[in-house]
Amino acid sequence: MTGVTVIDHPLVARHLSVLRDRATPAGEFRRRMSEAAMLIGFEALRDLRVERIDVETPLETTAGARLADDIVVIAILRAGLGMVDGFLGLMPEARVGHLGMYRDEQELSPVGYYESIPEHGPEAEIVLVDPMLATGGSAASGLRRLKERGAQRLRFVCLVAAPEGVRRLAEKHGDVTVYCAALDRELNEQGYILPGLGDAGDRLFGTR
Ligand code: URA
Repeated sequence: MTGVTVIDHPLVARHLSVLRDRATPAGEFRRRMSEAAMLIGFEALRDLRVERIDVETPLETTAGARLADDIVVIAILRAGLGMVDGFLGLMPEARVGHLGMYRDEQELSPVGYYESIPEHGPEAEIVLVDPMLATGGSAASGLRRLKERGAQRLRFVCLVAAPEGVRRLAEKHGDVTVYCAALDRELNEQGYILPGLGDAGDRLFGTR
Protein backbone atom coordinates (compact mmCIF):
# COMPACT_ATOMS: atom_id res chain seq x y z
CA MET A 1 0.00 0.00 0.00
CA THR A 2 1.38 3.38 -0.95
CA GLY A 3 -0.99 5.37 1.28
CA VAL A 4 -1.62 9.08 1.64
CA THR A 5 0.72 12.00 1.01
CA VAL A 6 -0.21 15.29 2.67
CA ILE A 7 1.29 18.22 0.74
CA ASP A 8 2.77 20.37 3.46
CA HIS A 9 3.49 23.77 1.89
CA PRO A 10 2.79 27.30 3.18
CA LEU A 11 1.09 28.40 -0.06
CA VAL A 12 -1.19 25.37 -0.07
CA ALA A 13 -2.00 25.96 3.62
CA ARG A 14 -2.97 29.58 2.87
CA HIS A 15 -5.26 28.61 -0.02
CA LEU A 16 -6.86 25.93 2.11
CA SER A 17 -7.56 28.39 4.93
CA VAL A 18 -9.37 30.72 2.52
CA LEU A 19 -11.31 27.76 1.12
CA ARG A 20 -12.33 26.68 4.62
CA ASP A 21 -13.58 30.18 5.53
CA ARG A 22 -17.36 30.26 5.27
CA ALA A 23 -17.21 33.95 4.26
CA THR A 24 -15.24 33.26 1.04
CA PRO A 25 -17.53 34.02 -1.95
CA ALA A 26 -17.93 31.58 -4.87
CA GLY A 27 -15.66 33.44 -7.32
CA GLU A 28 -12.79 33.58 -4.87
CA PHE A 29 -13.48 29.98 -3.82
CA ARG A 30 -13.15 28.82 -7.46
CA ARG A 31 -9.93 30.77 -8.00
CA ARG A 32 -8.37 29.46 -4.79
CA MET A 33 -9.35 25.89 -5.52
CA SER A 34 -7.78 26.08 -8.94
CA GLU A 35 -4.54 27.52 -7.51
CA ALA A 36 -4.46 24.94 -4.72
CA ALA A 37 -5.05 22.15 -7.25
CA MET A 38 -2.11 23.39 -9.31
CA LEU A 39 0.21 23.42 -6.30
CA ILE A 40 -0.91 20.01 -5.07
CA GLY A 41 -0.68 18.65 -8.61
CA PHE A 42 2.87 19.97 -8.92
CA GLU A 43 3.90 17.83 -5.96
CA ALA A 44 1.70 14.87 -6.79
CA LEU A 45 3.25 14.58 -10.26
CA ARG A 46 6.89 14.92 -9.34
CA ASP A 47 7.61 11.30 -10.28
CA LEU A 48 6.17 11.51 -13.81
CA ARG A 49 8.42 9.75 -16.27
CA VAL A 50 10.34 11.88 -18.75
CA GLU A 51 12.10 11.13 -22.01
CA ARG A 52 15.37 12.77 -22.87
CA ILE A 53 15.32 14.82 -26.05
CA ASP A 54 17.81 17.07 -27.80
CA VAL A 55 16.96 20.78 -27.79
CA GLU A 56 18.56 23.31 -30.12
CA THR A 57 19.23 26.52 -28.22
CA PRO A 58 20.26 29.53 -30.34
CA LEU A 59 23.86 28.50 -29.56
CA GLU A 60 24.10 24.70 -29.45
CA THR A 61 22.37 21.41 -28.84
CA THR A 62 21.59 20.47 -25.24
CA ALA A 63 19.73 17.77 -23.34
CA GLY A 64 16.04 18.44 -22.73
CA ALA A 65 13.04 16.49 -21.49
CA ARG A 66 9.47 15.79 -22.44
CA LEU A 67 6.76 13.84 -20.62
CA ALA A 68 7.07 10.19 -21.56
CA ASP A 69 3.44 9.22 -20.98
CA ASP A 70 0.00 10.39 -21.90
CA ILE A 71 -1.64 12.31 -19.01
CA VAL A 72 -5.37 12.05 -18.40
CA VAL A 73 -7.10 14.04 -15.67
CA ILE A 74 -10.49 12.65 -14.69
CA ALA A 75 -12.87 14.89 -12.72
CA ILE A 76 -15.52 13.34 -10.50
CA LEU A 77 -18.59 15.50 -11.12
CA ARG A 78 -19.31 18.00 -10.12
CA ALA A 79 -16.81 19.32 -7.57
CA GLY A 80 -13.85 17.75 -9.38
CA LEU A 81 -14.39 20.33 -12.15
CA GLY A 82 -12.97 22.93 -9.78
CA MET A 83 -9.55 21.25 -9.94
CA VAL A 84 -9.26 20.70 -13.69
CA ASP A 85 -8.01 24.18 -14.70
CA GLY A 86 -5.24 23.99 -12.13
CA PHE A 87 -4.02 20.72 -13.65
CA LEU A 88 -4.31 22.05 -17.20
CA GLY A 89 -2.25 25.07 -16.12
CA LEU A 90 0.50 22.62 -15.21
CA MET A 91 0.10 20.37 -18.24
CA PRO A 92 -1.77 22.00 -21.13
CA GLU A 93 -1.32 18.80 -23.13
CA ALA A 94 -3.26 16.68 -20.61
CA ARG A 95 -6.60 15.31 -21.73
CA VAL A 96 -9.67 15.51 -19.52
CA GLY A 97 -12.36 12.98 -18.69
CA HIS A 98 -15.47 13.13 -16.52
CA LEU A 99 -17.20 10.65 -14.24
CA GLY A 100 -20.67 11.40 -12.87
CA MET A 101 -22.00 9.43 -9.92
CA TYR A 102 -24.98 9.77 -7.62
CA ARG A 103 -25.61 8.02 -4.35
CA ASP A 104 -28.28 5.30 -4.27
CA GLU A 105 -29.99 6.02 -0.94
CA GLN A 106 -31.24 2.42 -0.55
CA GLU A 107 -27.94 0.73 -1.27
CA LEU A 108 -25.89 3.69 0.02
CA SER A 109 -23.52 3.18 -2.88
CA PRO A 110 -22.47 5.32 -5.86
CA VAL A 111 -24.16 4.70 -9.20
CA GLY A 112 -22.54 5.98 -12.41
CA TYR A 113 -24.78 8.23 -14.56
CA TYR A 114 -22.18 9.77 -16.88
CA GLU A 115 -18.83 8.69 -18.20
CA SER A 116 -16.54 10.34 -20.72
CA ILE A 117 -13.01 8.96 -20.62
CA PRO A 118 -10.45 9.70 -23.34
CA GLU A 119 -8.97 6.62 -25.03
CA HIS A 120 -5.57 5.81 -23.55
CA GLY A 121 -3.02 3.02 -23.41
CA PRO A 122 -1.99 1.06 -20.30
CA GLU A 123 1.04 3.31 -19.72
CA ALA A 124 -1.05 6.51 -19.43
CA GLU A 125 -0.86 8.43 -16.16
CA ILE A 126 -4.39 8.78 -14.89
CA VAL A 127 -5.14 11.39 -12.22
CA LEU A 128 -8.58 11.15 -10.62
CA VAL A 129 -9.56 14.44 -8.96
CA ASP A 130 -12.24 15.35 -6.44
CA PRO A 131 -11.67 18.04 -3.78
CA MET A 132 -13.27 16.08 -0.93
CA LEU A 133 -12.40 12.48 -0.05
CA ALA A 134 -15.20 11.79 2.44
CA THR A 135 -16.46 8.18 2.71
CA GLY A 136 -14.35 7.26 -0.30
CA GLY A 137 -17.36 5.66 -2.04
CA SER A 138 -17.19 7.72 -5.24
CA ALA A 139 -13.40 7.65 -5.39
CA ALA A 140 -13.28 3.85 -4.92
CA SER A 141 -15.98 3.33 -7.50
CA GLY A 142 -14.28 5.75 -9.96
CA LEU A 143 -10.94 3.99 -9.54
CA ARG A 144 -12.59 0.60 -10.08
CA ARG A 145 -14.22 1.85 -13.28
CA LEU A 146 -10.92 3.32 -14.55
CA LYS A 147 -9.12 0.04 -13.84
CA GLU A 148 -11.87 -1.88 -15.70
CA ARG A 149 -11.15 0.37 -18.68
CA GLY A 150 -7.46 -0.49 -18.60
CA ALA A 151 -5.86 2.18 -16.40
CA GLN A 152 -2.76 0.84 -14.65
CA ARG A 153 -1.01 3.98 -13.44
CA LEU A 154 -3.43 5.82 -11.21
CA ARG A 155 -3.26 8.49 -8.53
CA PHE A 156 -6.03 10.26 -6.62
CA VAL A 157 -5.73 13.96 -5.82
CA CYS A 158 -8.01 15.88 -3.45
CA LEU A 159 -7.84 18.93 -1.18
CA VAL A 160 -9.25 17.52 2.02
CA ALA A 161 -9.35 13.86 3.04
CA ALA A 162 -11.20 12.19 5.91
CA PRO A 163 -9.59 9.19 7.63
CA GLU A 164 -12.62 7.09 6.63
CA GLY A 165 -12.02 7.79 2.92
CA VAL A 166 -8.30 7.17 3.15
CA ARG A 167 -8.98 3.83 4.87
CA ARG A 168 -11.52 2.83 2.22
CA LEU A 169 -9.11 3.57 -0.63
CA ALA A 170 -6.27 1.76 1.14
CA GLU A 171 -8.51 -1.32 1.45
CA LYS A 172 -9.91 -1.27 -2.07
CA HIS A 173 -7.09 0.34 -4.05
CA GLY A 174 -3.88 -0.08 -2.09
CA ASP A 175 -1.87 0.51 -5.27
CA VAL A 176 -3.17 4.10 -5.65
CA THR A 177 -1.49 6.95 -3.77
CA VAL A 178 -3.79 9.64 -2.35
CA TYR A 179 -2.50 13.23 -2.37
CA CYS A 180 -4.21 15.94 -0.33
CA ALA A 181 -3.60 19.30 1.33
CA ALA A 182 -5.05 18.17 4.67
CA LEU A 183 -6.11 15.02 6.46
CA ASP A 184 -9.07 16.18 8.56
CA ARG A 185 -10.53 14.74 11.75
CA GLU A 186 -13.68 12.78 10.85
CA LEU A 187 -17.01 12.65 9.04
CA ASN A 188 -20.22 13.88 10.64
CA GLU A 189 -23.51 11.95 10.45
CA GLN A 190 -24.40 13.58 7.13
CA GLY A 191 -21.09 12.54 5.60
CA TYR A 192 -19.48 15.99 5.70
CA ILE A 193 -15.81 16.25 6.56
CA LEU A 194 -14.99 17.98 9.88
CA PRO A 195 -13.65 20.64 10.02
CA GLY A 196 -13.75 20.49 6.19
CA LEU A 197 -14.96 23.32 4.02
CA GLY A 198 -18.63 22.45 3.55
CA ASP A 199 -20.14 21.26 0.27
CA ALA A 200 -17.41 21.90 -2.28
CA GLY A 201 -19.78 21.69 -5.27
CA ASP A 202 -22.24 24.19 -3.79
CA ARG A 203 -19.45 26.56 -2.83
CA LEU A 204 -17.82 26.34 -6.28
CA PHE A 205 -21.00 26.92 -8.21
CA GLY A 206 -22.91 29.08 -5.73
CA THR A 207 -25.83 26.66 -5.66
CA ARG A 208 -26.58 27.10 -1.96
N1 URA B 1 -18.43 16.41 -0.15
C1 URA B 1 -18.27 17.74 0.11
O1 URA B 1 -18.40 18.57 -0.79
N2 URA B 1 -17.96 18.11 1.36
C2 URA B 1 -17.78 17.23 2.37
O2 URA B 1 -17.47 17.65 3.50
C3 URA B 1 -17.94 15.85 2.08
C4 URA B 1 -18.28 15.47 0.82
